[in-house]
Amino acid sequence: MRGPVFRLSAPSGEPDRSTCPSCAAPVPRWPGVRCAQCRGRLGTPMALELPTAAVLALLLGRFGAQPDVVALGFFAVLGVALAAIDIAVQRLPDRLVLPALPALTIALAAAAAIGHDYGAFVRALLGGVVMAAGYLLLALARPGQLGGGDIKLAALAGLALGWLGWHTLLIGGSLGFVLSAVFSLALLAARRITLRSAIPFGPFLLGGALIAILASGH
Ligand SMILES: [Zn+2]
Repeated sequence: MRGPVFRLSAPSGEPDRSTCPSCAAPVPRWPGVRCAQCRGRLGTPMALELPTAAVLALLLGRFGAQPDVVALGFFAVLGVALAAIDIAVQRLPDRLVLPALPALTIALAAAAAIGHDYGAFVRALLGGVVMAAGYLLLALARPGQLGGGDIKLAALAGLALGWLGWHTLLIGGSLGFVLSAVFSLALLAARRITLRSAIPFGPFLLGGALIAILASGH
């Protein structure tokens, strides 16, 4: 994921990053940790690899032999990449989120077919719709808090959470707001931000969803 994360970590409205930030040499589609030209670092070493490995290890420990481990692993790996981009440039690129919606749906359909659990698949589809609708209503009620990217990401998280159950969807859908509020209060208390600062919501949505997934009693 280092390649897509590097390319898409460009502010909204600007072209993808395609050159080294130090020497402006072109960066290959699947770059290493360092620029081939000047050996400058392309992003923080291990900032993606360690969280991805940790999240996959947790999922494998929880869902190891279940047919849905592939779909949930896909959601988790993509989630780490999306969180990294959102932290870097405060956006959740459609080019990652939108193709992930059908991809995760297909992966869950495969898990449903293998496990003969079509009820869970229907619930996943409903979960995606319900969570996106809930976030859309919140965005309309409190403009400026949630962006369009957060609503599309909510649809993606709703698929994974709904698959595991309505209880998991409820916890995962709301936990992001709790985490975000706690984080904001801590930063306010430490005077690192002001009340007007915008904090990206995607990492909290994804973190809340991951906690709910790992805690699910499925
Ligand atoms: Zn360079």
